[in-house]
Amino acid sequence: MSYIDAKSAPRREDRLGTCIEFGGLIGDIARPFCEGCLKNRSRGFSQGTICQLLPALAILTSLQDTVVIVHGAIGCGGAVHSLGASVRLGQWRSGDKNPKGALWLSTNLNEQDVTQGGEAKLREAILESDRRYRPDAIVVLSTCVPGIIGDDIDGLTEDLKGQISAALLPIYCEGFKTKVMATAYDAIFHSFLRNMIDGRDETEFSVYDNEASVAAEAIRRHRLVNLMNVSSMTGPDQYELTRLLHKLGLEVNMLPCDAHPDAFRNAPFAALSVGVCPTHDDYFMGYLEERFGVPFVGSQMPIGIENTGTWLRHAAGRLGLEDIAERVIASEEAELNKALEPILPSLKGRTAMLSAGEVRTLATAVLLQELGMEILAVRPYHYDEFGAVDVEHLARINPAIKLNVATAQPFEAVNMINRAKPDLYIGHNSDNVWAAKCGAAILPIYGTNSIYSGYAGAYDIARRIKRHLANTSFNEKLSRNVRHPYRESWYAEDPFKYIKQGAA
Ligand code: SF4
Repeated sequence: MSYIDAKSAPRREDRLGTCIEFGGLIGDIARPFCEGCLKNRSRGFSQGTICQLLPALAILTSLQDTVVIVHGAIGCGGAVHSLGASVRLGQWRSGDKNPKGALWLSTNLNEQDVTQGGEAKLREAILESDRRYRPDAIVVLSTCVPGIIGDDIDGLTEDLKGQISAALLPIYCEGFKTKVMATAYDAIFHSFLRNMIDGRDETEFSVYDNEASVAAEAIRRHRLVNLMNVSSMTGPDQYELTRLLHKLGLEVNMLPCDAHPDAFRNAPFAALSVGVCPTHDDYFMGYLEERFGVPFVGSQMPIGIENTGTWLRHAAGRLGLEDIAERVIASEEAELNKALEPILPSLKGRTAMLSAGEVRTLATAVLLQELGMEILAVRPYHYDEFGAVDVEHLARINPAIKLNVATAQPFEAVNMINRAKPDLYIGHNSDNVWAAKCGAAILPIYGTNSIYSGYAGAYDIARRIKRHLANTSFNEKLSRNVRHPYRESWYAEDPFKYIKQGAA
């Protein structure tokens, strides 16, 4: 992965050909994507999108013993306020019984800084962060303004390295650079790989001074896996996946979310990296294999019954644990099927639409199909090679499923909901609010305290869907009493009419 020599990670549009504009049948995306025909598309009308700073802040503010400096205008850090509850919950789960929330500062760049440069303010912020909090790491998150005026973040952090004790991590996360917010994951991992992970064995392993301890540590590392959690994995999700890996006899080094920087430093010493979402993890795991020889698995998200089994089989297969994995899967599935028995009749034949990040949307749709529901449409925020497996799976069962690749774009969503009239819409709150106003029952595709992953997640999603479908009168009444912002004529139009082909 030659990207690592560059100051910043490439855009997803360039690295993976990721697209955010598509409307059609689910079986119709694979060929044009492979042929590169989905590149350079656009919308003639767009209702806004999501800046890559949002997912970046969700991960970075969850890190332990780390200060995040948002280098930019004050508003760029606004998203942190919506993350407060989940950050505090993560800190509490990590053992801090008096969680203080996100540790972040802004350089608050103004008009004068735009003309004179923001480096002086950033220098002051770094020194003050180190003096005030004595953190293990300081992240400098560069936004649009320093990107445009050309602040030398790398030069400044390099210059300060000998003066402060914290590790310095410059991250280039300018919102204007990309339309694919998942680029943020690469931007973060790029900096950790360049500035923190060097494979030097200076952690616990090197302080053992006798042969028996060294041998014991070597054995431990033989069964140690990097479990790549994502910011949309809840505490119960993390517990469930750790539980399953423990059943294989594995030990877990979990990162990046809620992790201490040492989890990154220890990553090269694991026997395997186990991803939970290829959209999230591929950049990091790929480089860890290339540079330190740590193999990786994780083409499936462990949401859904078959997907969870595949996820476990892939992890076990790389470590010679196939037999034990089969025993675990058989016993977990038997228990799950028994628990699902009284729920499934209420779900059979009910219809659903889903939206969220690429892999999560598609994997959850696969689960709903397993539960006997009919999928009418899926609306992943973006599409690239990582969505192909689940897209194929969904299309095999029902090629008439509509696929709308869109980061938000509620005008397309309401048009589709109005036509399809699904019983249930599963998405993030920003989408669910529109579905509720259209009269559909809704279920959050992510909620801080709920569980979605593994076998326990499959059961809990089924249980919650049954409950939501049991009484839908609130949203039905809501739809009759709210005023929609769109003209009646829009609902008669093709929902994808504003998606434009890209230039060759
Ligand atoms: S688009 Fe640019 S200015 Fe706006 S929040 Fe994102 S980084 Fe900040």
